[in-house]
Amino acid sequence: MSAPLLRVEGLHAFYGQAHILFDLSLEVGRGEVLALTGPNGAGKSTTLKALMGLLQGTQGRVMLDGRDITRLAPYQRARLGLGFVPEDRRIFTELSVLQNLETGRQPPRQGVPNWTVQALLALFPNLAAMPHRPGGRMSGGEQQMLTIARTLMGNPQLLLLDEPSEGVAPVVVEQMARMILDLKQRGLSILLCEQNTHFANMVSDRSCVLDQGRLLV
Ligand code: ADP
Ligand code: MG
Repeated sequence: MSAPLLRVEGLHAFYGQAHILFDLSLEVGRGEVLALTGPNGAGKSTTLKALMGLLQGTQGRVMLDGRDITRLAPYQRARLGLGFVPEDRRIFTELSVLQNLETGRQPPRQGVPNWTVQALLALFPNLAAMPHRPGGRMSGGEQQMLTIARTLMGNPQLLLLDEPSEGVAPVVVEQMARMILDLKQRGLSILLCEQNTHFANMVSDRSCVLDQGRLLV
C-alpha cells in the first residue's frame, strides 16, 4: 500500500504565546477531496498556513508523498507540489489575467494534472472572457477564480484551498463547486477549508470538523 499523499501527525501551532492548534492528525489520500469545516476562528486558516510552513514554532510532523517536509521552507514545499490558495486573494492588481497566470508557472510534475493557460481558461470560462482585464478590476469571485487558476499553473500535487466560497455571489459559488468537482475528476487532491458546510459536503469525499483548534471525531 502506498502512503497517503498528505499525512499530518500531532500538529500544534502558535501565534506568539497563543496556542491555536492542538494535536491535529489527518490524512489526505491521492485524488481525495478532504473538507476541513468549523466555525470562524476554529483554526482552519492556521492549519493551512502551518502546512505551508508559514508559521514559526509549529510542532508535529508533516509528510507529503512519503517525504518528511516538516522542516522545509514555504518555497520548498511549493516546489514539492503544495499549492496554497490563501483566503485573502493575493492577485497582482496591475497585471492582467494572463500575466497573473504566468506568475504561477512551474515545471510539469509527474503523476499529476499538468496545466496550460489554455486548459485553465477552459476550466474557468469567466477568466477566458477577460484575458486582458487587470486583476484590480475584477469582482471578488473572479479574483478568487484567478487565484485558484494561478496556483494550478504550479501543477500542484495537493491544493490547499482556504474558503473559496467566502464572500462570493451564489452563482459563483455554484461555478466554484463545479470547478472543484472537475479538478477532483482529473485526479487532483484537495484539502478544502470551509465554513460553508453545504458547499463542503457538495464537493468533498470526506470531511472533518475543527473546533477551537481541535479536531472533533
Ligand atoms: P479560521 O480560519 O477557522 O476562521 P483562524 O485559523 O484564522 O480560524 O484563526 C484561529 C485562531 O487564531 C483565532 O482565535 C484567531 O483569532 C487566531 N489568529 C489568527 N490569525 C492570527 C494572528 N496573525 N495572530 C494572532 N492570532 C491569530
Ligand atoms: Mg480562515
